Amino acid sequence: MINFTVGPVQSSPEVRAIGAEHVPYFRTPEFSAVMLENEALMQRFVKAPEGARTVFITGSGTASMEAAVMNVLSPADKVLLVNGGSFGQRFCELCQIHQIPFEQIKLDTGKALTADHLAAFENKGFTAFLVNIHETSTGVRYDAELIGDFCRRNGLVLIVDAISSFLADDFDMAAMGADVMITGSQKALACPPGISVLVLSKKAVERIEHNDVRCMYLDLKSALKNGERGQTPFTPAVGTLLQIHARLKGIEAMGGVEAETAKIAALAADFRSRIADLPLEVCSESLSNAVTPLMTKNCSAYDVFTVLKDEYGIWVCPNGGEYKDKIFRVGHIGDLTVEDNRILSDALHDLVKREILR
Ligand SMILES: *Cc1c(COP(=O)(O)O)cnc(C)c1O
Repeated sequence: MINFTVGPVQSSPEVRAIGAEHVPYFRTPEFSAVMLENEALMQRFVKAPEGARTVFITGSGTASMEAAVMNVLSPADKVLLVNGGSFGQRFCELCQIHQIPFEQIKLDTGKALTADHLAAFENKGFTAFLVNIHETSTGVRYDAELIGDFCRRNGLVLIVDAISSFLADDFDMAAMGADVMITGSQKALACPPGISVLVLSKKAVERIEHNDVRCMYLDLKSALKNGERGQTPFTPAVGTLLQIHARLKGIEAMGGVEAETAKIAALAADFRSRIADLPLEVCSESLSNAVTPLMTKNCSAYDVFTVLKDEYGIWVCPNGGEYKDKIFRVGHIGDLTVEDNRILSDALHDLVKREILR
């Protein structure tokens, strides 16, 4: 199978080789050194502000979304959040569960966030802003500068879910003024699922220190404390953390985050140029390099997904809910090549000949 989904994605041979080994004991100076290096590399790659800290949570991306909401926010906050798809909706549900007051900017599928959307919320007593900088479910990437400026003007704590955007798109945490940046192991980090990452500004760390969190596993106070010596409060997904370490070091050796982002951008551009003649519409006003969302015209998008899976050995990413038969997505993250793009493009052109894609 060739995997063009948005996660889990394909891992490099080097990362997979680590997965084949025994998982080592981890309360050791050696593992602590790996974790401290993971923290330093993460902070370098996201361009974290001075004094930032990083926490590695054993749990998928949603665990870190929930940890951010629980630890950085409280019922005394008033949150503005962008809801442009299923991950924006997840932040709404998390605020509801944790009784954090919020208002949402609801965007239609495929639509970008604009200054007009934000204008109505200036000086309205908000204290925090939640956004999925790339709403993976629709393939819309929001304008970081627009959001950062709004938050700075209004003095808001800014929590950014960059789970599918990290490494795929430029991201500058300090320039954006973000207080929390979240990512996960199974997106562009191209490791197995199981670890998510929170990079926290000084202000976020202070909020965490003063917050009363009713949860043992996701209380970030103990994670921060243990992290000072490169450890975690509980047994982490040790093997995945070693794979992340190899991946981060590999990115550094190949020219750093800019080179990695350029590679993903080139793969996305190559794919988009190959499919321009197909009966498919790129249905996002503002694309991320991570994914191309495609709307079918006269056939079911889900049928395209199924035929590619069963007859061509290719996974693309189906959409759920009301867009199941209208939209499928092609990811450009993970260990993919231009040759893989050619194979997918040939398969899609073959589906046109067979009148399955029309
Ligand atoms: C993948 C993803 C998540 C996390 O999903 P998990 O299944 O919990 O890893 C959250 N937000 C965005 C934008 C994502 O792409």
